[in-house]
Amino acid sequence: MLNSSRAGLARLSLLSEELETLQRYGTRFVTGALPDNWLERIMTGTSEIMEQTDNKETMPENDTLDAILAEVTGCEKCSLATTRTKTVFGVGSPSAKLMFIGEAPGADEDKTGEPFVGRAGKLLTDMILAMGLSRDRVYIANILKCRPPDNRNPLPGEVELCEPYLKRQIRIIRPAVICTLGAVSAQTLLKTNVAISKLRGKFHSYEGTPLLPTYHPAYLLRNPSAKKATWEDLKMVMDKLGISIPGK
Ligand code: SF4
Repeated sequence: MLNSSRAGLARLSLLSEELETLQRYGTRFVTGALPDNWLERIMTGTSEIMEQTDNKETMPENDTLDAILAEVTGCEKCSLATTRTKTVFGVGSPSAKLMFIGEAPGADEDKTGEPFVGRAGKLLTDMILAMGLSRDRVYIANILKCRPPDNRNPLPGEVELCEPYLKRQIRIIRPAVICTLGAVSAQTLLKTNVAISKLRGKFHSYEGTPLLPTYHPAYLLRNPSAKKATWEDLKMVMDKLGISIPGK
């Protein structure tokens, strides 16, 4: 019932955000997402919505990445299902010791279904190679599995509904270290508004797993001077994983 209530409240929170989106952009991003009688539903209480979203956040026993993938592929929990081309689940080793987590797919990812492709993805690949690893030895995923229109930041209600998929991925993969990419993923997972410049450079904890925030590759493409700090972050990750650091 607790999970059911949380899912219901998340849905209500999302409805409220969709109304804001409606005011800001018109019907482009919310058409089909709001039930016909949304106002009546909100006015008459939460029970019906809670039943519709019943228990989606429960962590199943004997969970598998394939089972989560199947759920994500057909997921319509939030309105991003109506604007996505492909869901973007995650790629890499199911037993990776290092997991990179971004915020959400962009246009290239939405087209291909793979996280971190395009120019930013190539830079991430280069960063991984510089660590002495490869894309198939780490795991790469996003908090949201569907692209927000116009690459806007994820809405809190979308995160609330989608983050359980990521939690399940993490519980199955059990990485030794999580490295978040960019302000939004770090702030979202750590539930804080502290700037990425203050969060990076030290380890935090996400559900018991050491988490180190660093800059997003797309930010590094715009601000190459931040690459030095990012490399310092990645060296901390390497140190934690017992990977030898060049020149140390
Ligand atoms: S963003 Fe997440 S919760 Fe929303 S439709 Fe996609 S998979 Fe489902």
